[in-house]
Amino acid sequence: MGIYKEEAIVLRSMAYGETDRILTLFTRGAGKVAAIAKGVRKPSSRLRGAVQLFSHTHLVLYAGRTLDTITQGDADETFGFIEQDLDRLAAASCFTELIDRLTMDKQPLPKLFQLLLAALRSLEGADPDLLGRIFEAKLLAALGYQPQLDGCVMGHHDGWQAPASGVVDVGPVWFSIERGGVLCPDCAASCSGALPLSPATVAVLAYFLRTPLDRAVRARVEQRSRSELASFLRSFITYHGDVRPRSWQFAGACKDKAKLATDGVLTPPA
Ligand SMILES: [Zn+2]
Repeated sequence: MGIYKEEAIVLRSMAYGETDRILTLFTRGAGKVAAIAKGVRKPSSRLRGAVQLFSHTHLVLYAGRTLDTITQGDADETFGFIEQDLDRLAAASCFTELIDRLTMDKQPLPKLFQLLLAALRSLEGADPDLLGRIFEAKLLAALGYQPQLDGCVMGHHDGWQAPASGVVDVGPVWFSIERGGVLCPDCAASCSGALPLSPATVAVLAYFLRTPLDRAVRARVEQRSRSELASFLRSFITYHGDVRPRSWQFAGACKDKAKLATDGVLTPPA
C-alpha cells in the first residue's frame, strides 16, 4: 500500500518510548488502523494537534507490517469541549471504545465513521446521556444487528403487530435479545429469555433508529424509558458484541458522583 492519505478519528492514544505515541485510528476509507506517531511528544512536533484523542484529522500514513507510520497530519476538529466536562468525556470514551471493541482492523465501515463524527459533533450541545443511547442504537444498525421491532422475530404471526408506533395503553412488549427482535405474545410465552419492555421505550428506540442523529438528539424522553433503554441496549450489545466496555463503568461512576453532589453528600460543609 506504501503511502496513503486517510481521514481519521483518534480512538485511542498510548505513550510509547521516549517521545512516540501508538494510536488506534478509525478511518473513513480503511476502517480501524493501528499507527505510530514518532516524536509526537516533543514540544516541537508539528503532529501534536493532529493526533490528540478524539481529533478528526486528515493524515498521511506509510503502511508497515504491524503498525502504519503517520508522516503528516492536520486536525480539522479537536473537540476541545469534550475534556472540559466529565459527562461529555465519559460519553466520547464510550463511543470510541465501542467502535474499537466491535470492529476488526482494516474493515471499511464508512457509515460508522460518519456516525462517530456526527456523535462527537453533537456532544457539544446535546444531552450526553441521550446521545449515548442514540449512538448505541445506530451503532447496532451500522454493524448489521439492528433490533427488529416491526413484527414477531420468530416469523409472520397473523393478527399481531408490534406497537412500535407508540401505542401506550397495552401491556409490555416482549423482546428476545438472543433472537434480536420483538415477540408476539404466543412466542413470548414459549421463549425462556423474553424481556418485557414498555411500549413507550420500544417507540423511542424505533424513533432513534429511523431519525437522523442531529434530529433525534432533540427528542424528549422520560426518565423511565431512558433507564429501560440504557439497560436494554447494554444487554443487547453485551450479548451480540461480546463486550462490556470499561467506559460504561466510568460513565456510571460520573453519574453516581453527580447524584451524590445533588443529594448533598459531596457538598462541602457550610
Ligand atoms: Zn410470534
